[in-house]
Parts: sequence; structure tokens; C-alpha cells
Amino acid sequence: MASGQMSRDEALECTRCRHACHVMLYSETASQLFGRIPIRYIVLMQMRFDGLLGFPGGFVNPSEETLEAGLTRELLEELGVAVPVSTEDHVESCFSPPRSGTCSSSSRLILHFYVKKIEEEQIREIEKAAASTAADHGLEVLGMVRVPLYTTKSGGGLSCFLSHSFIGVARSQLLNSLLRLHLVSPGDLREALRGSQRRHAESAQNLQAVFKLTGEQP
Ligand code: AMP
Ligand code: MN
Repeated sequence: MASGQMSRDEALECTRCRHACHVMLYSETASQLFGRIPIRYIVLMQMRFDGLLGFPGGFVNPSEETLEAGLTRELLEELGVAVPVSTEDHVESCFSPPRSGTCSSSSRLILHFYVKKIEEEQIREIEKAAASTAADHGLEVLGMVRVPLYTTKSGGGLSCFLSHSFIGVARSQLLNSLLRLHLVSPGDLREALRGSQRRHAESAQNLQAVFKLTGEQP
């Protein structure tokens, strides 16, 4: 188990901690972008109210409900569908980092992460319900998004997606899941991460150039 992580049972022993559960829902797909780029998998994330990308889910109270029942309740609010999640879908539990980065025990929020494979048809139902019947639509959730796992000729796709900003450890939860489930090869992921790093370096250079032009200090 990686440092900062704990088992589901160990996590539940901390009765004074707050607990939050989130899930990565994904499916296989045979569809192709532009009729030639295989999409291969649909991975669902969401644009949150704070402008950050994250996974559906939220706070759960283990004294009133199981983690999984609480997560399913959150999914009904955010997706409009009470997707059942079980202990078998549990991937990891860890203390929430104080800021972005690796898990640490300095904060008292424990994050539980789940991954569940569903059918493509269910993904479509969720996307419809999330925009029509979900109580949180337009409030806590601004919209569901699919993660592009491919790389286009011009370097777009996963690399650009990874350049966005994510809540807490959501970005590493995504990367670890893509690797562990073999949704993206290690080589393709490395290239996508390199591209995303380059993009950030370029925007830092752009900022420097603007400061130079305006004579301001960064
Ligand atoms: P939510 O109600 O979905 O915002 O989640 C409950 C708490 O967990 C909030 O404090 C979020 O900031 C935090 N949170 C949500 N997703 C993640 C994540 N992937 N990594 C770390 N913290 C998260
Ligand atoms: Mn939430």
C-alpha cells in the first residue's frame, strides 16, 4: 500500500474523520472519432462548481450509512441515477492532501476512491439524466465530461485534457486508474504527460513575455 493510504476498514476506524467517496465510471466503446480514431473507452468525469475537474461523489456519513450506500446517494444527486457501488469496486482510501499533491495524514478528511465498469448504454443514460433530472445539475455539477484517451495528430486529446486543473488528487486517481486498468499504455501516458508539461511551460513563458512588455514584475 502506498504511503498515506489505508484499507477501507482502517479508514472507518477513524470515527472523528470526515469521509468522502468518489467513483470513476467507465465503459468500453466501439465508436471512432472522425470515423478513424478508436475511442476505446468512455471514462466519466465532471466539471465541478469550482471550475475543477473531478469524479462524481461527495461526503458520506459512515455512522448513518455504508460508504457505498452514501456514494450511491451522492450519485443520484449528481448524476440523476442511483448507480449501485459495492465494496468490490473500492480501490483506495487515503487522507486528503492539505493542498494538491500526495496523500498525507495532516488533514482529517478521508477520501475513498472507487472504479466501476458499466455498459456504454448506461453511460449514455447517466449523461442524459445528469443534464435533465439530477438535482445538482448547474449547481454543484456544471456538466459531465468524457476523458479523451487518444492522441490526435496535432498532439491533442489526453495530453490537453491533463493540462486542465483537477480537484485534490483526482488527476493522480485518473492516471493510476488508466494505467492499472490498461486503458492507456504506459508509453502513451508518458507522451501525454510530456505534452501537458510542455503546454504549462509555454503558458509560463507567455506570462513572462507579457510582464516584460508591460514592465511589471511577475
Ligand atoms: P465533493 O462534495 O464532491 O466536493 O467532495 C467532498 C470533499 O472531497 C470536498 O472537500 C472536495 O474538495 C474533496 N474532493 C473531491 N474530490 C476529490 C479528489 N479527487 N481528491 C481530493 N479531494 C477531493
Ligand atoms: Mn461531489
